[in-house]
Amino acid sequence: MKIKYSIVKPKIKINGLNIKKDFVIIAGPCSIESYEQLEKTAKVLVKNNIKIIRASAYKPRTNPYSFQGLEEKGLEMLNKIGKKYDLATESEITDSRQVKRASELIDVLRVGARNMQNYELLKELSKVKNPIILKNGFGANIEEFLGSVEYLLANGKENIILCYRGIRTFENSTRFTFDPLMIKILKEKTNLPVIADPSHASGRNDLVLPLSKAAIVCGTDGLIVETHPNPKKALSDNEQQIPLNEFPKFVKEINDFVRFEKQK
Ligand code: PEP
Ligand code: MN
Repeated sequence: MKIKYSIVKPKIKINGLNIKKDFVIIAGPCSIESYEQLEKTAKVLVKNNIKIIRASAYKPRTNPYSFQGLEEKGLEMLNKIGKKYDLATESEITDSRQVKRASELIDVLRVGARNMQNYELLKELSKVKNPIILKNGFGANIEEFLGSVEYLLANGKENIILCYRGIRTFENSTRFTFDPLMIKILKEKTNLPVIADPSHASGRNDLVLPLSKAAIVCGTDGLIVETHPNPKKALSDNEQQIPLNEFPKFVKEINDFVRFEKQK
């Protein structure tokens, strides 16, 4: 049997960006909390030439009493914001029953770390046209990650973006352990675009910039980053979200760094 993940070379275009050719920054809050929160974020993203907004409506939280997300209502808000501000939208899908409606409302569907091995979800996602961002499970090795990629490919889905977000190790001084070399390894083994998530990996907004730079040095095709108008009041992941007023500086530093790396 032929393994497809080493062969396929999808051309993925999202809101004018040629993924892999153009460096992509996907940014936005961890969770959708309100229309106003999304609107404040969208305005800053547009000003900084960001083309894709992330925000989750289904939240796989460790604690069942924590905020669980605004679900379909949240996706509808994100859809409105995307249309109003000409932003492509990106959001997490946690269950195969959400796929059909989410595929109508949202441009890019994300499989989170906790669902990397939810094979029924992967099969269902293979039926829709939307590009998929597949994150590595934090307890999975690269072979297992590529097994999940193959599930999508085997079911006819090719417009896949891989996202490395670090893994669980015995080290707990950062939220997860992020090995930037995994970006190189994934790019050696596949021709798929590979992006990095420095927010969930580090768990601290002051560590997002240095980790992003490490990922860029290792050839990442882009970043997915959390930013929030008021991180202290955020309903999830408040320590890792970049305050929205600091986001323009972050984008400038990233763009300068990407330019510098390309010149070498
Ligand atoms: C997220 O990107 O919103 C998220 C929950 O990340 P992960 O699935 O990598 O933990
Ligand atoms: Mn988050």
